[in-house]
Amino acid sequence: MSDRTIFQCNPRAAYEAQASAIDAAIQRVLHSERYILGPEVAAFEVEFAAYVGCNHAIGVANGTDALAIALKALGVGPGDVVLTVSHTAVATTVGIRATGASPLFVDVDEQHGLMDLDALEGLLFAIRDGQGAVPFARIKAIVPVHLYGRCVDMTRLAAIATEFSLPLVEDCAQAHGARFEGRPAGSFGAFGCFSFYPTKNLGAVGDGGALVTSDPNLLEQARLQREYGWKQRYISDVEGGNSRLDELQAALLRVKLTALDTDNAARVAIADVYRALINHPAISLPLPAPNGQHVYHQFAIRCGARDRLQAYLKDKGIGTLVHYPCAIHEQPAYANQSFAPLPLPRTKMWSREVLSLPMFPQLETAAVEYVAASINSWDGPA
Ligand SMILES: *Cc1c(COP(=O)(O)O)cnc(C)c1O
Repeated sequence: MSDRTIFQCNPRAAYEAQASAIDAAIQRVLHSERYILGPEVAAFEVEFAAYVGCNHAIGVANGTDALAIALKALGVGPGDVVLTVSHTAVATTVGIRATGASPLFVDVDEQHGLMDLDALEGLLFAIRDGQGAVPFARIKAIVPVHLYGRCVDMTRLAAIATEFSLPLVEDCAQAHGARFEGRPAGSFGAFGCFSFYPTKNLGAVGDGGALVTSDPNLLEQARLQREYGWKQRYISDVEGGNSRLDELQAALLRVKLTALDTDNAARVAIADVYRALINHPAISLPLPAPNGQHVYHQFAIRCGARDRLQAYLKDKGIGTLVHYPCAIHEQPAYANQSFAPLPLPRTKMWSREVLSLPMFPQLETAAVEYVAASINSWDGPA
């Protein structure tokens, strides 16, 4: 056993890095008269929308709700079908199911674990030609996931979405500040959906989420969904839910947003050190990305003997996590529903092989070097 302990992630370190500013923000809220959807949320919405390059942001209770609200605002409902991936957080599917729609899973690519756009295009052509498991008219949206902080090829995906007249709802829960060809994740689709779960690149100290959009009509629909279908207090124009962001989280997120770019740069620097130092024949590393395209929510390596590598690293005092050990369509709640008409071999490969190394902005270089040296001296897979 090692006497070192290296956390896989450490949200407390992010608080400690900005403790006095965060403490002051929290005091400001405690001494205010508004604790839900007040001036801090309104200011955060303006600041976050500007950061993501959209006209509007809407603070909500969590990232799952952000996805559900976005889809409902687009009119997605029971019986509809939404194209997405099965190699992601289960929340992506939970958000889709919350509308009454069903996901239809597309395989991921071998290199990045992101939606395979060849597979997506092939599936859409087949369905439009009447050869699919569902009628084309039932397909209502595409939800790409910028997994691990790396953007899906949004130029190509936008062209596919246009060809088939389908709106895009980007799952940006792991991609705050990521860019594709210079443009921020979340600004390509009808909506971008973010989570502020504490371990995300922009994390609260509780639950939180946001949607971004530049379309005033969609903004209006999403706002109605956020709070009881209210345009005017106490009068529900449509049936809505309750998914509000609170003032404490918003005030803290405003402080943390000021550090997001430097935090993401620290993640990229850690990834560069891992990539420069790790050299093991049984392990493949995430491919480098052009500047800003990848914000390394996770540094996800692959190894055929993943479980043994994870146990070995644990013995060395190194925390790792598996994102994710079981594809959504293979989980008990979803396995018996026909969400996956095609085999998804690369989805399966990723769930079997992926391992997330320690990654958070305050992770010290010496720790990164120790992780890399430990991996290099692993004698597996025997
Ligand atoms: C975290 C996450 C979500 C959901 O966010 P919550 O705030 O936990 O509801 C959705 N999609 C992905 C890819 C995530 O990582």
